[in-house]
Amino acid sequence: MNFVSLPCDPAQETALHSRALTLLDAVATAATLSLQELLEHLTQTIRKEIAFDRLMLWLVDEDKTPRPIGDSATCIGDEPVRRVVANGSPLNVGNWAQDHRSDTCTSIRSVLLIPLQSGARLIGVLGLSSARRDAFSADDEYVLLTVARPLAAIVENARLHQETARRLAEMTTLYELAQRMNSSLDLQDVLRTIVVSLKETLKCRGCSIALLDPANEVLEIAMAAGLDPKWERRFRLRLGEGIAGRVALEGKPIYVPDTLAWQGFIFFDPSVRSLLTVPLVLQQRIIGTLSIDSDRPNAFTRDDERLLTIAATQAAAAIENARLFSGLEQQVRNLAEAYADLKKTERLRDEFVQNVSHELRIPLTFIRSYVELLLEEYPGPLTTEQRKYLNIVAEKTNAVSRLVNDIMELQQAGSPLIKRVPVSLSDVVHKAVEGCAAAAAQAGLTIVEQFPEERLLVMGDEHRLTQVFDNLLGNAIKFSPNGGQIVVRIESVRSAVRASVSDQGIGIPKEEQKRIFDRFYQVDGSGGRRFGGSGLGLAIVKNIVEAHGGEVWVESEPGKGSTFYVSIPQYRPPRTGGITG
Ligand code: ADP
Repeated sequence: MNFVSLPCDPAQETALHSRALTLLDAVATAATLSLQELLEHLTQTIRKEIAFDRLMLWLVDEDKTPRPIGDSATCIGDEPVRRVVANGSPLNVGNWAQDHRSDTCTSIRSVLLIPLQSGARLIGVLGLSSARRDAFSADDEYVLLTVARPLAAIVENARLHQETARRLAEMTTLYELAQRMNSSLDLQDVLRTIVVSLKETLKCRGCSIALLDPANEVLEIAMAAGLDPKWERRFRLRLGEGIAGRVALEGKPIYVPDTLAWQGFIFFDPSVRSLLTVPLVLQQRIIGTLSIDSDRPNAFTRDDERLLTIAATQAAAAIENARLFSGLEQQVRNLAEAYADLKKTERLRDEFVQNVSHELRIPLTFIRSYVELLLEEYPGPLTTEQRKYLNIVAEKTNAVSRLVNDIMELQQAGSPLIKRVPVSLSDVVHKAVEGCAAAAAQAGLTIVEQFPEERLLVMGDEHRLTQVFDNLLGNAIKFSPNGGQIVVRIESVRSAVRASVSDQGIGIPKEEQKRIFDRFYQVDGSGGRRFGGSGLGLAIVKNIVEAHGGEVWVESEPGKGSTFYVSIPQYRPPRTGGITG
């Protein structure tokens, strides 16, 4: 509470009230002004009632620290103002120079400080100074104290207004900054945008980003604006070293208001007088530092620090995004290269295979013809042993011929040419089962046929469809253990005929199941394979089935067995006959 004794004389008291009221009236018109405008307004209005040289105003923070508005207030220093804040009562000094010899404002003789109370809180201090001794009377003090409460409300209002405007400006700046930072994913672009935008926004001399190399724990400037490149190149700090090194180690901002007064300051650029450095933190990991500097001491405020800290959070995220993107880009490039290499290898392989197949065809035809001649005993009779060996040669030559034909067929673009006549799939499959009965018996395997009563027809090429089941049954025999069972089933599923070949063999891992239908692909295709083959059988199956408008797929579990399904649209012949008579 502020107390001031009223004069005893009623006339004097009335005059005082009148002065206070006039002042109150004048002060009240300032209700919507900014702090700076308010200072000017108060200077004019109070001067009409009280003679003074300078009007001063301090705002008091939550932590009771007085903060001067404008620069006139710095003249009398903090100490008397702190005293008013601590006591909550006015201070009227008539012989200022004597009381405050150390003060620099030698022309000041009188100072009147009035606490400004808004509600229960002391929000500021109003001060008047004069070059005259004993310039302020008890009446002046009374008049000012009378207007102190409404004035406090006006000051608080202006402060809130200024705070809101500042926050809005800060938000706008950060929003614009975020937009600019995120407009590119190129790391160099992002870094450049950060430093250039912050330099502009914070009106500083230089702004720089130093990134931490986690391998050798060294900070180096990755991008700077407003710095001489000579100093940029020299900048190299270990973790914990210099201001940036400490910020990167401790993860807290450091403000150096005056580099000359800062013990042990490491100068890269001798003209730097104040420096504010904040950490660039990403998910609790420090990736570098962000600094602004000035060639003036005390260049930065707490607001600058807050803004730079928030901007650093945005910057760290933008940097990380750009880094991730560039990593991704590199991976895409590597993949594209690997893919191009693969394609080239594939093309070379195809060319090679095609050439070799082509070259093999003619000699194979010769061999087959001569073997046939020999078997027909055209040059002369054969011994039993000679016939046996020649039969083996004939069998193997036929196998190689089939392989060469398969290769040639698969090398051709587009679907194979097929005949289209109604074919019973049961007949086709049965024929294939008969064809491999000997091989199955040799491997100790039984083949069980599960066919429906009715003949299920498809439109297709009997010879090519037999080839499909030859291949599927051949694989089932090849990949089954001795003594197992192979089940061949045919059923009608919706508008398709579905045939399946199930074995109890080695099975196929899930991740391989799609690829086995590719040309030359073999599970465990390394040299150490137990089973022979070319890796062409299923590619041919797929080719033929698809040429029939059908599908082929596999369900398999390693160690348990595989079931290959072939589904081809069912053909239903138009009904013949009708009502006779
Ligand atoms: P291959 O001549 O190697 O049999 P395929 O194209 O017919 O060529 O088959 C490709 C690969 O698919 C085989 O090498 C094998 O790894 C796998 N495979 C095919 N059928 C079966 C099956 N019934 N059981 C286990 N693996 C199979």
